[in-house]
Amino acid sequence: MEAEWLEALPRLRQLVGDRNFATWIEPIRCSRNGSGLCLEVGSRFFQEWLTRHFLPTIRQALTRPDGTVPALRVAVSAEETHAPAATAEAPAARARPPVPRAPRIGRLVPNYTFESFVVGASNEVAYQAALAVAESPGCRFNPMFLWGGVGLGKTHLVNALAHGLLARPPRRRIACLPAEAFMNTLIAALRQDQMGSFRDRFRDLDVLILDDVQFLAGKERTQEEFFHTFNALHASGRQIVLTSDKPPHAIAELEQRLRSRFEGGLIADIHPPTPPMRLAILMRKAAAQDVDLPAEVAALITQRSGPSVRELEGALTRVLATAVLRGAPLTTALVETLLSPVAPVAGLLSVEAIQARVSQHFRVSVTDLKSHRRDRSVTFARQIAMYLSRTLAEVSFPGIAEKFGGRDHSTVMHAVRMVEYKRTHDPDTGQLLMMLENELRTRPAPSRAE
Ligand code: ADP
Ligand code: MG
Repeated sequence: MEAEWLEALPRLRQLVGDRNFATWIEPIRCSRNGSGLCLEVGSRFFQEWLTRHFLPTIRQALTRPDGTVPALRVAVSAEETHAPAATAEAPAARARPPVPRAPRIGRLVPNYTFESFVVGASNEVAYQAALAVAESPGCRFNPMFLWGGVGLGKTHLVNALAHGLLARPPRRRIACLPAEAFMNTLIAALRQDQMGSFRDRFRDLDVLILDDVQFLAGKERTQEEFFHTFNALHASGRQIVLTSDKPPHAIAELEQRLRSRFEGGLIADIHPPTPPMRLAILMRKAAAQDVDLPAEVAALITQRSGPSVRELEGALTRVLATAVLRGAPLTTALVETLLSPVAPVAGLLSVEAIQARVSQHFRVSVTDLKSHRRDRSVTFARQIAMYLSRTLAEVSFPGIAEKFGGRDHSTVMHAVRMVEYKRTHDPDTGQLLMMLENELRTRPAPSRAE
């Protein structure tokens, strides 16, 4: 490895923190590239993430005494994407005996694939992470913990991941099932005194995908068994993928040791789709049924259905079914009769609701949030509230500036950038934001003041 890189590592660790260091910096292989350096990483997702979130910090750590910085290139290493290739020193060490065809545990939904998944701002990180895991399971993002509200595509995405794994060699043993099914199988095994075969089944897997792990809350015996399953798989480099409707720390009655396992890998969240994504999803679903949906009809359906994709699909099904039953054309008039208007702010929060929650959390009054006070405690709370107003309420920068005491919109832009940076570099800020976002989303938003 390059001496210049090795020297910079301790500084980098300080700058990004231990956890980020282990996940994002340690796996990098660095080689000389002319007068600069080439940073080799294992997947395209890793490459994008690193470039987007850590490159400025890496540059900072690599700054030479004369103030110059080596030119950096971030490349995907060819070997790693096709793991597990044998290494020169240990030719057969990683080669596994041929995998016998094993009965798969759990059933996959055939059309929940990557191809049928519409990608946009609200789910891009989760999508990229799932692709990366499908490319090289058991490598970096292990476990992968995917969370988000009901009907936002978690089950779709993990099914797509499983299809992706099955589509390419080597043949892998995959289990993809709801946590509830895991529990039921466990209970049956306990009753029939067949724990041996239960353990063989679940520990002899290459990939375990457990959907809706929030279901394990309060189920102590199942948690205990799952803890051991998790450890057995994880210790031998097998991939674990979990989904949940909330982040690990917000799952009540989950043993601390499981929570910390869940938090030990990559956590990705899915948000409700933006209006353009909703339209794209609707068109995709209609096309899958060979229906030519007029644009104005599609637009009206997206406006008149709830925030989740499942509700959007439900609305489409209702409209299509009625059109067929009545032999009626697909018009906006038909949609008007079937779907009543929903509050236009469905899924979006008001800036006032965000200010109120942030003020409560930081014990800073809303008046102070809107004021020009510059003490650190107030400034940080204000920046968080501005960031959430941008991401959850989707209000424009000038719009937010106005609601925070009529300041300049560049202040808001700066605040949002600051918080974005802290979110990826400081685990505490990351945790805090996840908690606030989750609470704000799950609690019914107070109606808008105006
Ligand atoms: P969750 O598991 O998060 O509750 P699902 O994966 O069951 O949600 O998704 C609900 C429905 O919405 C499914 O029919 C799924 O295909 C669809 N869906 C969700 N997100 C997308 C997306 N981004 N693109 C296409 N379909 C989606
Ligand atoms: Mg689901």
